[in-house]
Amino acid sequence: MKRGLPTLLGVPFDGQSSYLRGAADAPPKIREAMHCDACNSWTELGVDLGRKETWHDAGDLEFFEEDAFSAIENALSEIVAAGNLPLSLGGDHSITFPIIKAFARKYSALTIFHFDAHPDLYDEFEGNRLSHACPFARIMEAGLAKRLVQIGIRTATHHQREQAARFGVEVIEMRSLPAVEEVRAQLKAEGPVYISFDIDVLDPACAPGVSHREPGGMTTREAINLLHAIQGEIVGADFVEYNPVRDVSGITATVAAKIVKEILGKMIAE
Ligand code: MN
Ligand code: MN
Repeated sequence: MKRGLPTLLGVPFDGQSSYLRGAADAPPKIREAMHCDACNSWTELGVDLGRKETWHDAGDLEFFEEDAFSAIENALSEIVAAGNLPLSLGGDHSITFPIIKAFARKYSALTIFHFDAHPDLYDEFEGNRLSHACPFARIMEAGLAKRLVQIGIRTATHHQREQAARFGVEVIEMRSLPAVEEVRAQLKAEGPVYISFDIDVLDPACAPGVSHREPGGMTTREAINLLHAIQGEIVGADFVEYNPVRDVSGITATVAAKIVKEILGKMIAE
């Protein structure tokens, strides 16, 4: 391995969800779908995830401490400090703030590619600054990332558009989603890259198992093609907001496993 080991870590936390709980149950369901005999272990880019030495599953984070965010930040810091490359399975999107805090201890000038129906840039949501509607406001105001590129956005409020302008966020809105070829340059990063994938970026027809269904989203195919087009040194990723309580016959778990496999494959290959 020329770089650290991609390391899967379940983060079963949904305590900052504003509407519905359930995302905390996601990690084992995603793992189950990843290992289902209905599909093989290869990714589309030709990586065999069946080769055990190429990645590690660290299991699920256990929350012994009273403060979940500290537990998340500490667990991620340990993986990052060991030189490895965490791929966290949420959980709600609030976990990305403590995760990025851990990354910022090691990496300056992070580029974050953020797939989501929502900008998650609220200064506060219903009086809560740590809500899953706020992580990217916290990350940007703390200067923890050099670039934030948001892809698939289709719910921006006036306030969130102001926030995006204030933080210099590059927004690729869903209503004008360009062809992959047109955004290839924007999906290229100098320095370390982090991918944050909120599954509600997908159309609810593809992935109904989310708390906030937002029609008019990406197909699974479009999302995978955009992920494949990312160029740079991927040092970590998260996959969040799958809510098994809202799933229909496990279809969202299958889609989640597919996306996680493709992200993992890119982390191994590049
Ligand atoms: Mn989100
Ligand atoms: Mn979302």
